[in-house]
Amino acid sequence: MGSWDAVVVGAGAAGIFAARELTRAGRRVLLLEKGGDLQGRRCPRKETDTGCRRCIPCQLLSGWGGAGAFCDGKLSLSPQVGGFLGEFLPRPTLRGLLDEVDEVWRAHGAPPEVYGCRVPEWQALRDQAEAAGLVLVENPVRHMGTDVCRQVLASLYDELSDAAEIRFHTPCEGVEVARGRVQGVWAGGKLERAPVVVLAPGRGGAGWIQDLAVGLGLRTVPNPVDIGVRVECPAEVLDPVTSVLYEAKLYYESPTFRDEVRTFCMNPRGEVVHEVYEDCLTVNGHAYASAHSPATNFALLVKTAFTEPFDDPIAYGRYIARLANLIGGGILVQRLSDLTAGRRSTPERIAKVAVPPTLHDATPGDLSFALPHRHLTDVIETLYALDAFCPGLAGPDTLLYGVEVKFYSNRLELDERLETRIQGLYGAGDGVGVSRGLMQASASGVWAARAALERL
Ligand SMILES: Cc1cc2nc3c(=O)[nH]c(=O)nc-3n(C[C@H](O)[C@H](O)[C@H](O)COP(=O)(O)OP(=O)(O)OC[C@H]3O[C@@H](n4cnc5c(N)ncnc54)[C@H](O)[C@@H]3O)c2cc1C
Repeated sequence: MGSWDAVVVGAGAAGIFAARELTRAGRRVLLLEKGGDLQGRRCPRKETDTGCRRCIPCQLLSGWGGAGAFCDGKLSLSPQVGGFLGEFLPRPTLRGLLDEVDEVWRAHGAPPEVYGCRVPEWQALRDQAEAAGLVLVENPVRHMGTDVCRQVLASLYDELSDAAEIRFHTPCEGVEVARGRVQGVWAGGKLERAPVVVLAPGRGGAGWIQDLAVGLGLRTVPNPVDIGVRVECPAEVLDPVTSVLYEAKLYYESPTFRDEVRTFCMNPRGEVVHEVYEDCLTVNGHAYASAHSPATNFALLVKTAFTEPFDDPIAYGRYIARLANLIGGGILVQRLSDLTAGRRSTPERIAKVAVPPTLHDATPGDLSFALPHRHLTDVIETLYALDAFCPGLAGPDTLLYGVEVKFYSNRLELDERLETRIQGLYGAGDGVGVSRGLMQASASGVWAARAALERL
């Protein structure tokens, strides 16, 4: 049995920033991580190109840096982007917090350039978007690239490894509570005692949080699920936009269903990758700062919320992803021209596209067998609106990968200091549903740690 001032669960952005804040205040911190250290994190699919081996835990999502270690490393500096923290703290406080964590990322090696701030060009693009019926959200972004992001995470490890006890390959198994107060956590069959615990297990740990909440009698509230596709096109098509903004955050209200559809995670000259959940494969994308592909990818996502009697958007999203996996034996890829012509893509048709798919093991197929009519209609209508904003985006060789699902975890019931109803038990990051990006995950870690310090 160990004894600490604080235990932090998960070494993603939220956990790292929480542990950093606590150790800087001189507290004895145990950081538990179910994955391995950064150097040891290797995705077999990436190294051998032989398809996903469904490692447990997933090398892409688990270990030092969490899902951030292989991500594109775009730091979105706007409080409107990357999570729900704005629902917990006042906008100026959130803005200040984001500035603080941005400084830390910068101090550890994130580049100084910020995209999306060149005002005249931004305004011109915003007007162009408006003319196409789209809303372009202001989103200054710092781009690290997957390679630099790993270096930055390594530097954060160097800082923290001297100050905190970091245990890899050590999943937190449970939380001990007595008389409404947290007593510590269970790991490796032992109780690690602490008056303060910060839970930051990321999206991969969302199921674990859900079970934990049930066991502890804590409420969770479903966040909407985002369902759609990953779009890939020749980089030249989007260059006029990405060279100014790096990433364009565009919103559209689809004419038929009046759904909110948005672009997400744009990766200029990047590649499409798998994202692995316990029982399904979805798609994602990233880009390197140093190596470039000839294609740009981004997600097109339809916000999907339920009210009653059904209120389990995560189960719904998983169901759709599993259906696509069933049909494609993994990830499906289809040319837009095939989709709109009502026919499947075949290997021969895919071989004809100007820029070949960057996800090599995707199966040419038919997304209309997997995506509900509503989502498919939303996607196609939005692509045509995007084509008016950026000609060529709905070209015949545009590729659609499916499906992309963003789960955002159920939101653990937390107060404005990110504390649960159990005294001393805090939540931060994507896994408890307060963030969906590196900046808000980091900020939520700092915010929870500060509240924990007050309690200590
Ligand atoms: C392919 C990809 C690209 C992305 N690109 C971007 C981007 O460009 N910009 C951006 O802002 N965001 C991006 N994101 C999202 C970003 O990575 C996440 O928002 C961020 O990593 C969330 O941080 P977190 O600390 O909440 O969770 P995570 O980073 O998921 O970390 C959680 C950690 O907790 C560990 N864990 C889980 N359960 C347990 C347990 N029981 N015990 C111990 N440890 C546990 C996990 O192993 C994991 O290491 C991307 C995500 C993916 C997958």
